[in-house]
Amino acid sequence: MNLEQLKQEVYEANLLLVRYNLVISTWGNVSGIDRQEGRVVIKPSGVPYQTLTPEQMVVVNLDGSVVSGKLKPSSDTPTHLELYRAWPDIGGVCHTHSSYATIFAQAGVAVPCLGTTHADFAPGDIPCVPALSKEEVEAAYEENTGKAIIREFAQRKPLEFPGALLQWHGPFTWGRTAQAAADNAQVLEQLAFMALETRLVNPAVDRLPSHIRDKHYFRKHGPQAYYGQG
Ligand SMILES: [Zn+2]
Repeated sequence: MNLEQLKQEVYEANLLLVRYNLVISTWGNVSGIDRQEGRVVIKPSGVPYQTLTPEQMVVVNLDGSVVSGKLKPSSDTPTHLELYRAWPDIGGVCHTHSSYATIFAQAGVAVPCLGTTHADFAPGDIPCVPALSKEEVEAAYEENTGKAIIREFAQRKPLEFPGALLQWHGPFTWGRTAQAAADNAQVLEQLAFMALETRLVNPAVDRLPSHIRDKHYFRKHGPQAYYGQG
């Protein structure tokens, strides 16, 4: 994929956030990476989705220096870059303040795995990463946000758990492509909605038993998967 194709893909992935009802105003951002060239394409900062064009997408190096684009990159760019540097398997990153996922983030609660809908997506709770300290915020807020997520994922595979909440903030998701990262933001939002409503119906409900959780996750993901058309 050349850079122009990646700009188009990242542009379309950003528009998906609007179509999925995950963003209003200028909130949210999606990026994608060209691993061969080491270039990241990301939404420009503060541009409304209605006026966004593929040409406005900003190209940066993995160190954050701007390669091309007339506009400033998203203020969350250092978080995206941190995740790309730590996790070579991911090709896209997405951040929104979608309502239900953000409600869990603000409550400081992981999205619990309460059913097979969730287990089809991830083999366990979607973690809520503890908020940054005063020092971390003042030193390098966006970069340290990425580092906090990576710390939380030391014992997890990022492609098995393609998202996290940041306490008092909102969801970050990722995937093999920019579109996958946006799609995962949509799924995470739906899972958060369903978990909240499930707990409303029955506050004492248990998590999905692990034998059902793992059956659902691994029939869809990994070497033993048999869901879909192969
Ligand atoms: Zn944010």
